[in-house]
Order: sequence, then structure tokens, then C-alpha cells
Amino acid sequence: MSRSVLVTGGNRGIGLAVARAFADGGDKVAVTYRSGDTAFIEQAGLVPVRCDITDAGQVERACEEARQRHGPVEVLVANAGVTRDQLLLRMSEEDFAGVVDTNLTGAFRVVRAAAAGMLQARKGRVVLVSSVVGMSGSPGQANYAASKAGLIGLARSLARELGSRNITFNVVAPGFVDTGMTRDLTAQQRADILARVPLGRYGTAEEIAAAVRFLASEEASYITGAVVPVDGGMGMGH
Ligand code: NDP
Repeated sequence: MSRSVLVTGGNRGIGLAVARAFADGGDKVAVTYRSGDTAFIEQAGLVPVRCDITDAGQVERACEEARQRHGPVEVLVANAGVTRDQLLLRMSEEDFAGVVDTNLTGAFRVVRAAAAGMLQARKGRVVLVSSVVGMSGSPGQANYAASKAGLIGLARSLARELGSRNITFNVVAPGFVDTGMTRDLTAQQRADILARVPLGRYGTAEEIAAAVRFLASEEASYITGAVVPVDGGMGMGH
């Protein structure tokens, strides 16, 4: 069955791999982007919808655009995220609030916008993309880790609130994946991260996408409120 899927931040990195995985499985997929060329998105069989998730109006409009193209959103993947790393005493309030506004409040905005249709349909699948550091913490990433930990509380609250309506909320917590987000790390930082990964390598965006797709599948119909690590074992023990 072909479902209406919306992936935030689906124009590159992990989000693009997630969007492709759903499209390969026969779903109709809309992806948000903020600016730039969209030809390659369309070539991949995806529908680009312009949206900055820090703007509630744009989020509402993006969901409406996805609805007009593909029908009410049945699968939502809140993937868009940013980092603004800084040590505590140098971290400004803007650094902190800005990251939370995108990563956590942004997810809340898009979930709220998509939920109305899911409530009406009495079914839905929501997957939030968190991070291993949401549970382990990470020096220099107090803002990012707090936002990613917040996603777990968000998902679990909504899993309890909307479970009776057959809407599931799950979290995928990736470890280290080589994307735009991690490209600026130094060789030393990369080596330090790798030393903490039992599988001894970075993950691929496709490996994250596989877990997201599973959680949105019929096979995962009795899974809600779960946090699924896809981190090569990096976060074991939480
Ligand atoms: P990228 O930096 O490659 O992609 C980030 C995506 O988020 C882009 O599509 C970007 O859109 C979008 N985005 C950022 N801010 C906004 C905004 N305000 N409104 C709309 N879209 C926005 O990172 P990844 O693909 O690596 O990250 C995807 C998710 O995975 C993030 O939530 C990240 O925290 C998480 N993650 C990544 C890990 C990694 O190692 N890479 C590890 C753990 C978690 P645009 O192109 O317009 O900037």
C-alpha cells in the first residue's frame, strides 16, 4: 500500500536516505527543504516542499502541500536538525535556544501539524530522529544533547496520549554517520569517536533509514515509545 510520507530535512544526509527508502518501497514521499535547487529531489521521485521548521506557519503549509499532493500525512519522520557546539561558558543563550528551537520545538511543530490528519484517520506512524548523545551526553553539545533527549520525552508522552488512536511514536538514535553535520570534525575527533564504536566504523545514512522504515512499517505495529539505537554499539548501557 502506498502511503503519504513526509520527511523533514529530506533534501540531504540521513533525511534524503530515509526519503529514498520509503520511495523505493512504493510510498509517496514529500521532503522539506529550505533553499537551493530541487531538481535532484524531483529526479529521485520525491516531492520538495519548502519549509523552515522554526516557523509554525511554514510547517502548517508544508503539511498542507503534502496533503494536497499525496493525501493526509500517514508517516511523519521528524529528521531536520542542527548543531551549534560550544563549551558551556562560551555558549550563548541564542546558541542554546536556537538548537532547541530547531531540533525539539521544530519536531513538536511538525508532529502537531501532521497529527490532525492522523487522528482523523485513526492511524499514523511518527519517527523522531534523536541521537546517541541524547542519552550519553557529549561535551560541547549541551544544547544539542538536551534537544535530542527532549525528543524522547516528546515521543513517549505522545505515544501514551495517542496510542488509543493507533498512532505510534518512536525514536531512532543514530551514532556517528558521515554527513554534512559531521564533516567538520577533525581527524583526531573522528578517531576518538571511532574508538568508542564496537563495530569499528561509522554508520551509513542507509542504515539509519532502514530502522526508520521498519518502525513505520506494518511489522512494527505493536512498537511505540521505543528508542532504537543505530550506533554500532556506541551507546550501549543506557
Ligand atoms: P545534515 O546536516 O546533513 O542535514 C540536516 C538536515 O536538516 C538538512 O536537510 C537541513 O536542511 C535540515 N534542517 C536544519 N535546520 C532546519 C530548519 N530550521 N528547517 C528545516 N530543515 C532544517 O545532517 P544529518 O543528515 O546528519 O542529520 C539528520 C538528523 O540526524 C539530524 O536531526 C541529526 O541531529 C541526526 N543525527 C545525525 C548524526 C550524524 O552523525 N550525522 C548522528 C545522530 C543524529 P537544509 O539543507 O535546508 O539546511
